[in-house]
Amino acid sequence: MRYFAPMEAMLVEADQIANLSAPNQRQQLPQQYDPKMFERKLTLESPIESIQRISPTQKKALFKMGIKTLMDLLRHFPIRYGEVGQVRSIEFLRAGESSVVFGKISNLKLGKTFKSKVAISSATLEDSTGKISMVWFNQPYIAKMFSEGALVRIEGRVSIKNEKLYFSNPKIEKISQIPDGTSDSLFPAKENHNLYPTYSESRGISSNWIYYALQKVIGAGVLDGVLDPIPESILKKYSLPSLKTAIFWIHLPRKKEDAETARKRFAFEEIFMIQLDRQKEKYLGQKEKAFLIQKKEAEMEEFVKDFPFSLTGAQKRCLASVLSDFKAGFPMSRLIEGDVGSGKTAVASAASFATVTTLPPQREYGNLQVAYMAPTEILAEQHFESFIEHFAKHKIQVGLITGSGAKKFPSKLSKEKYTKISKPQLLKWVANGEIPILIGTHALIQKTVKFKNLGLIIIDEQHRFGVKQRKELRKKPARTTESVQSGRQDFAPHLLSMTATPIPRTLALTIFGDLDLSLLDELPPGRQIPETKIVLPHEREEVYKKVRGELKNGRQAYVICPRVNDPDPDKENTINARSVKSEAERLQKKIFPEFKIASLTGQNSPKEKEETMRSFKEGRADILVATSVVEVGVNVPNATVIIIENAERFGLAQLHQLRGRVLRSSHKPYCFVFSDSASQKTISRLKSFTQAKNGFELAEADLKQRGAGDLAGAKQWGVSDLAMEALKNIKMVEAAREEARSLIEQDFELKKYPLLRKHLSSKSSVHME
Ligand code: ADP
Ligand code: MG
Repeated sequence: MRYFAPMEAMLVEADQIANLSAPNQRQQLPQQYDPKMFERKLTLESPIESIQRISPTQKKALFKMGIKTLMDLLRHFPIRYGEVGQVRSIEFLRAGESSVVFGKISNLKLGKTFKSKVAISSATLEDSTGKISMVWFNQPYIAKMFSEGALVRIEGRVSIKNEKLYFSNPKIEKISQIPDGTSDSLFPAKENHNLYPTYSESRGISSNWIYYALQKVIGAGVLDGVLDPIPESILKKYSLPSLKTAIFWIHLPRKKEDAETARKRFAFEEIFMIQLDRQKEKYLGQKEKAFLIQKKEAEMEEFVKDFPFSLTGAQKRCLASVLSDFKAGFPMSRLIEGDVGSGKTAVASAASFATVTTLPPQREYGNLQVAYMAPTEILAEQHFESFIEHFAKHKIQVGLITGSGAKKFPSKLSKEKYTKISKPQLLKWVANGEIPILIGTHALIQKTVKFKNLGLIIIDEQHRFGVKQRKELRKKPARTTESVQSGRQDFAPHLLSMTATPIPRTLALTIFGDLDLSLLDELPPGRQIPETKIVLPHEREEVYKKVRGELKNGRQAYVICPRVNDPDPDKENTINARSVKSEAERLQKKIFPEFKIASLTGQNSPKEKEETMRSFKEGRADILVATSVVEVGVNVPNATVIIIENAERFGLAQLHQLRGRVLRSSHKPYCFVFSDSASQKTISRLKSFTQAKNGFELAEADLKQRGAGDLAGAKQWGVSDLAMEALKNIKMVEAAREEARSLIEQDFELKKYPLLRKHLSSKSSVHME
């Protein structure tokens, strides 16, 4: 029984496939198509089982890959295109070489392995020069799919066992005739299609499995049902292929350019969809009403004057943008991007001052309120303390709510101190407006937290919160008593997000497309850039000596390792890199026995992490050995040294962020970059890090040099690798953004684009959490 057409038949122009929609036209399909496929009426929504029997293991694997329907399969893209091996005749095959052989298949058998009962298909391949056997594990369909004597093309690495050559899990494909010249091993045959897709694999689902399944699906004419969510005018404008063509080209490209064009289209599509979601959010936001906050410059200056420093130019510019947003009548949505230590808290604090000293509309007393959300308890506490410093003089109360309790400043007994209070009590005072500023962790988004006149929301380390949480917070009603009584429109709070994660501009434009951007690209004067040194293996001892000196003077140090645990030595291809576990042991036993060492990894629970960070901050440990999870933004001014092991394994922007950990010190900070692989390339890459001062530049460099996969925490943004790759292209990102913006402006409900609307609603849950 034949399930799919040979490649030649598959490679009809995609446009031709597009024309095969009417049933009578299907008659034109090549003979090889199994007519039964059509009787079953496969559609894009058909479950994957409808083309292929699958085992429970396979089902699980497919599910993990997000493949449930035929459309999901069509949208499962190759991770790369394999180089086709040398075309050889059987007599010239060598063990270990990737080769392509054309021949006749026979001896098709289906069996099971003795121990683990894995299905094995086996067969013999024969050409004019000899025979070779072939086996396929876990691919029982192969034995069923080919008939004895069929002509096939085999591609794979030649294996050897007991001095006999064989193919294990080669790619197999039916052909109609053996191409000319293949028996001449010196000259590889010219082939029409030499780009074979490789898909990511999972237990039970090989790349081959997907390749075959796709051929069946495409061969069954399912592509006929593909409708393009992207308006045609947009595709035309940017010369992008239709969805149908792009699906075809991405899986079965005839030439490299086809695959690239297809990938470009899918990247555009993804960025366009994210932009539609964000632009819609922005558009709707601007239709909402917000409190007017109009502060006189003199009043702001009065507040800022009390800081123990004067604002940098960047801080002033940022604050000016915020104050101008406050006057617009619709809610502000602004993101401040600034390196660690650029002074975001001061801007947040001034914006809060403007807010809480503003009366609710048509009121003679009372004040607007501020909610300030931080990703961890320690950070929330840190902000609480800074705010007490800034607001004590102005007799403005500040509350703190975290998972572990509530605090309020000032306490009843002392005007200079805060006090612990019960959560319900705190929440009562927030709800009746008595406490104008509430700082907290996720605890802030709980339903029980109600404000009287919420005017401003501040989110610190914005990247740690998804769009969903942002939306959640903005839903917090900011009702005025009048608005409730008269049923008037509620006021939406202003939103100020802050992040220290250096990301390239294109990525920021995409994932934060609903926000206006302000850069804090200037460090306060006199800030000591850590002395950064690349340490070669033989210089290790010297560095430890230096670190010992610092520790003896009462300073603290971080040691960053790429791994949590040591790799399983039995496993193949494990990456050789230092682990937190064994490095902490080694340092304790052999290098720094006289000092106290703590360790921290992503495997610790949030509570353990908080506890370890706290003990380090309070000086109960001298050295903290950690993975790159060390909290962003946590201020340990006494830590002056950071050692980064296997630095070659980190992105440049990530290294920069890690180095930021020792930036706050009033003592001289040091950053030692260790690299076991002292290759020239590594060293020159690391050199650009020692010289750079700005994280955003490094993020751009990362994107250019190593691709998006190396951007710190690339995964958390919910952008696929394919789209990440496209972020190198600022023109494309700007185009997607512009098109999305103009579409939303004309028709924000996408009434004229039902397909797009449907696609968007099924997608928007995927992006960002
Ligand atoms: P981040 O941007 O990382 O959140 P912070 O707001 O925590 O940075 O500020 C880091 C440190 O710099 C704080 O100790 C703060 O008091 C100080 N700082 C902020 N702005 C200035 C400035 N303009 N001049 C000098 N020091 C400043
Ligand atoms: Mg901060």
